[in-house]
Amino acid sequence: MSIFDTAETASSSATLTVDLAALVANWRALGARAGTEASAVVKANAYGIGIEPAATALAAAGCTSFFVAHLSEGIRVRAVAPDATVYVLNGLLPGTCGSYAQHGLSPVLGSHEELLEWAAFRQTGANVRPAALHVDTAMNRLGLWKGEGLTLARERSGVISAADIGLVMSHFASSEDEADPANARQIEAFAEVTAALPGIPASLKNSSGHFLKGCPSYQLTRPGYALYGGNPTPGLPNPMQPVIGLTAPILQLREVEGGTQVGYNGRWTAKGRRKLATICLGYADGYPRNASGTGTSTGGSALVGGVLCPFVGTVSMDLIIVDVSDAPIAALQRGELVTLIGGRLDLETVGTSAKTIGYEILTSLGRRYARRYIGL
Ligand SMILES: *Cc1c(COP(=O)(O)O)cnc(C)c1O
Repeated sequence: MSIFDTAETASSSATLTVDLAALVANWRALGARAGTEASAVVKANAYGIGIEPAATALAAAGCTSFFVAHLSEGIRVRAVAPDATVYVLNGLLPGTCGSYAQHGLSPVLGSHEELLEWAAFRQTGANVRPAALHVDTAMNRLGLWKGEGLTLARERSGVISAADIGLVMSHFASSEDEADPANARQIEAFAEVTAALPGIPASLKNSSGHFLKGCPSYQLTRPGYALYGGNPTPGLPNPMQPVIGLTAPILQLREVEGGTQVGYNGRWTAKGRRKLATICLGYADGYPRNASGTGTSTGGSALVGGVLCPFVGTVSMDLIIVDVSDAPIAALQRGELVTLIGGRLDLETVGTSAKTIGYEILTSLGRRYARRYIGL
């Protein structure tokens, strides 16, 4: 039992199992691959697995830098990792400098205005940790545009030194696609930025960046998805260890005749006599409704006694119906567990079957599961 386990028992709901030893092993493997320090990106409740258990395990393993998206997430990391550097990627909303100071958090500054506000706050004598500077080299999302970054960097005693920048970073737009020429352009643009800011540690690699040829590691990397077992090299074997598993119990079994319609609006019709199982999990648990199996579209599937069985009908709020006709008889009992994520059903497979990506499956993991933290 871990202190982070939820009270709900496995018999009353689906169960999410999180292997914290695998999480730590993935973090170590990425750092070793980069040959430099790896931070941990734990935004969005550590991609759904739980920010407190994830940050606690990683800090105990020696991780000293964390990235989150929101100030509120930074405060949660600070509570379990009192000494770590905690960067807040979404930067400085007006008037929030005081909260950064109070919790010892570091904003990732991404505009001239944010730099000025932070520098002015520092000049009041506030006790703050160094901030990071985000330079946008492709995304047009957050960050100073490269030209502006270079101009500010060249003003020796300007706002960048007044803001006390401890890290300069940029973010890849398509690092999971090795063949995209945008990667080389971003690597080159970021090299220009770092050359203009000598002596300031830099960070470029996200998960997939660790596997891009010709990408320098700089002083810090920022893996997220791969820490949680996501495949940073889509289309190639997954180099990471799986971290999460999701199971749900069978609530009811039935046999239906050919021509029987199943689920809301009768979106699936049995072509012959079929065995169906209704399982305890639905879109309210974060399993996308887009994984519905209809006559025209195959959706998600479950492993039942090791056999892949398709969803039939629409995914409903609390329930999914699975065609278990091919599953071994021994696995077909009320209360038996089926696997929704794990083994052959990895995050990428589940994402594709729901017409999305593994990242969205992971970060949508529901609040209603019983959660078991194992491995540490
Ligand atoms: C989310 C995020 C990361 C982590 O990306 P992954 O692809 O999950 O490894 C790194 N840097 C920034 C700026 C991010 O927003």
